[in-house]
Amino acid sequence: MSTPCVYCESTVERHDPVYAREEGSEERAFCNYACLAAYIDDEGLTTGTCCEWSPA
Ligand SMILES: [Zn+2]
Repeated sequence: MSTPCVYCESTVERHDPVYAREEGSEERAFCNYACLAAYIDDEGLTTGTCCEWSPA
């Protein structure tokens, strides 16, 4: 079984997967924090959401 990365559609298990869940939506899988960060950037999720995002 493989899970595609939400951002780049690679198989997340082949990387260092990161899982994120937004309220009211399904869990989303990403290869790593780079894909998660890129996805957030693309979707503009950092604006107007309740979550704090602090790059490590
Ligand atoms: Zn990815």
